[in-house]
Amino acid sequence: MAKPYPYFVSLNEAISLCQKTQINLDSEIIPISQSINRVVSNNIHSKVNDPGFDNSAMDGFAVIHSDTLTPPTQLSIIGSTMAGSSTIQEITSGQAVRIMTGAPIPEGADSIIPIEDCTVAGSEVTLNKPSKPHFIRKLGENFSLDEIIFTPGEIMSPEKISLCAAAGISTISVFKKLRIAVISTGDELRSLGEDLEYGQIYESNSYGLSALVEIYGHEVTRFPNVIDDLDILRETLNEASKNHDCIITSGGVSMGDKDYVRILMEQEGDIRFWRVKMRPGSPPLFGLWNDKPLFGLPGNPVSSHVVFRAIVGKWLTSLTNSKDINTKYTHAILDEDIKTQEGFTTFRRVELFNKDSSTFARLKGHQGSGNIAGVAMSDGLTVIEPDQLGRKGDVCKIILL
Ligand code: AMP
Ligand code: MG
Repeated sequence: MAKPYPYFVSLNEAISLCQKTQINLDSEIIPISQSINRVVSNNIHSKVNDPGFDNSAMDGFAVIHSDTLTPPTQLSIIGSTMAGSSTIQEITSGQAVRIMTGAPIPEGADSIIPIEDCTVAGSEVTLNKPSKPHFIRKLGENFSLDEIIFTPGEIMSPEKISLCAAAGISTISVFKKLRIAVISTGDELRSLGEDLEYGQIYESNSYGLSALVEIYGHEVTRFPNVIDDLDILRETLNEASKNHDCIITSGGVSMGDKDYVRILMEQEGDIRFWRVKMRPGSPPLFGLWNDKPLFGLPGNPVSSHVVFRAIVGKWLTSLTNSKDINTKYTHAILDEDIKTQEGFTTFRRVELFNKDSSTFARLKGHQGSGNIAGVAMSDGLTVIEPDQLGRKGDVCKIILL
């Protein structure tokens, strides 16, 4: 019997089915010093011109360019000016002012000669080369008063935080963080610090998934492990849905008899798709539990990471119309054939190396989806599209890890 929801969809279909469920994020005003990774929610206008005045890009002398065209040129030094100086100096032909980087340009000067190209003797300077007009940083050449420096969706980086400060902006409006619950399921899982009995393993997915939520700029609650029990799982999802915007589960979505996340979602939730044509990571489901988006990630550690990056990260950035800056791509030539399956997107763990001024990718470690060491130690994941074969010599897109 056909499933009452899309079953075994392509990765692109999975991404677009998730994106049909959107959450409107409220805004809040925060200091720029706390804004790393936060997403801008309003246009941000500069409060100043940058630079605010013509100033020197070099330590040297401010001079009149036409004086300096046939070196060596001797000029008399009539003063000096430093960054922060507010006295306006003036020069005429035959004169020079000693100037430091960032100092305002004296009136009459139209160029700078770096100190390295000068010989100073008392109050005279000999210029051994012509001066350089482009060593003057012009008023407003970087950005100007009232100019929009950021539009909504921009993700704050260290450079953007400095730009805000340079523009005189101390607080910005950003989207509020989503509160995301991360819930691991499985009878075999034990928490760190507990003793392992035969058949048990340390629960590890929730740590990496929580770190992923954080690098995407959201707030995470790591729930205690849930055993494979329908009633306890229902109770935990109900609890999580009360004060979280979104739920991420790990484990229990495959074909096993105790895969209760899938079973509960089928019986009482609202599944929007189950299973995706991707390797690794084919079991995930997406749906709503108490109207809250729920990503049911596979328990296999590599799969849970890959599915987060391939699907959940795309959904999170779609909410704020942002670039997925956490997924950086490169391209590399495959150094060996990679096993693919027609119609599937293939994410193999690779290491990158350079040879003959090209970048190559070769498989790194045992490729089993249970091998977290393989993904942790690799340089990247191949993105072999459903219509590609992944043959030695092919140029392949790689997600950098
Ligand atoms: P499942 O998706 O529940 O069938 O689990 C698939 C595999 O992933 C099994 O070998 C589990 O033991 C393992 N696994 C499930 N959840 C976790 C977890 N939170 N941390 C580490 N391994 C897990
Ligand atoms: Mg399980």
